[in-house]
Amino acid sequence: MSDQEKILRAVDELGDEAVAFAAEMVRIPTVNPPGEAYDDCARLIGDRLARGGFAVEYLDAEGSPEHTAAHPRVNVVGTREGTGGGALLHLNGHFDVVPAGAGWTVDPFGGVILDGRLYGRGSCDMKAGLAAAVYASEALRRAGVTLPGTIEISGTVDEESGGFAGVAWLAEHGRVAHGRTDYVIIPEPLNVDRICIGHRGVYWFEVIVHGRIAHGSMPFLGVSAIEHMGNVLEAFRTDLMPVLGARETRMPVVPPGARRATLNVNTIIGGQANVAIQSPCVADRCRAVFDRRFLIEEGFDATSAEVVALLERTAARFPDLRYELSDLMVVHPVQAPEGSVLVASLQRSIQAVLGRAAPLIASPGTYDQKHFARIAGVEDCVAYGPGILELAHQPDEWCGVKDIVDATKVLALTALDLCRRPRA
Ligand SMILES: [Zn+2]
Repeated sequence: MSDQEKILRAVDELGDEAVAFAAEMVRIPTVNPPGEAYDDCARLIGDRLARGGFAVEYLDAEGSPEHTAAHPRVNVVGTREGTGGGALLHLNGHFDVVPAGAGWTVDPFGGVILDGRLYGRGSCDMKAGLAAAVYASEALRRAGVTLPGTIEISGTVDEESGGFAGVAWLAEHGRVAHGRTDYVIIPEPLNVDRICIGHRGVYWFEVIVHGRIAHGSMPFLGVSAIEHMGNVLEAFRTDLMPVLGARETRMPVVPPGARRATLNVNTIIGGQANVAIQSPCVADRCRAVFDRRFLIEEGFDATSAEVVALLERTAARFPDLRYELSDLMVVHPVQAPEGSVLVASLQRSIQAVLGRAAPLIASPGTYDQKHFARIAGVEDCVAYGPGILELAHQPDEWCGVKDIVDATKVLALTALDLCRRPRA
């Protein structure tokens, strides 16, 4: 029997354990914000890795503002050394989940398995993926396969809020790094038969418009910040949106609508606080937060300059329009390199397990690939994992049991292939 056959048989034998492990993680409500029960989930993952022959480290995100006594940011990294000389494959999953929200028909933290589906907040995004990574390595061990290369598995925090105390922290502290880490797979739920090679850029900015307060019965004596914010929004709508809608990336972003450059007004707050009783005043302040998703072809500098130019033009048209622009967050676009060994290896594994060719896609949103690529300098990084993308963050989130088993097989075959290669 070939090593591949031994591994696939091992996954069939341990599939129930992998699903039960994912359910066990779902029962730990690692809700972010604020970052509940991280330590419990890190220990659960670490204990499982230790039983599978991994050396386990718990890495508190010391020095990061999110790491507090009430809500410690605990990351876990397991390393299983190969026999020597082979590539290092790092499998990373975040174990934080977004709040359950309303509309559930099952207990969001019950880890319920029903009709071939594991239900619960984080089942799809992405505790099933973490379980698949852990049990892919376990299948290699139980199949008795030896590898020259090393497998690392990390469970990290805060991806849902930017990943700064999670993967970014590991990258800043050299725990994942170019020259040490050859390949990274993040088993995010991008569907079990697709490979996600990267994502668009994100530019969050804030515009504050300042007016002048006056009595609301004589508004002509003041300057309304809300009216001027209306002028700003109108300029974005008429001058910028048509231009953005005409730009399309060559990256295979899904859904296709997200191949265009986009702009969303995330927040708008103006005038007096949202209280029941107000006094009559002209609004002297209005704040809006914008979420601009930019394309790899646009780049950040041109994206930013375009916003500045538009605001300047608008202010020139309205002499008493005073505004401030601040950058809140910039995430640069990332994309795995053309001809990536990692992508080709995953494609072969998906073909072998599912019997079909895996399309390459890019994500409409962002995820921790940015930190691996931009901080750690590990460009050979993709997302591949079980679960249906559209179910993430929804009520009654679920992940198919068969998906978990299939993804475990794909990851195990890919690890076999990559860890038998020399270091990249
Ligand atoms: Zn996720």
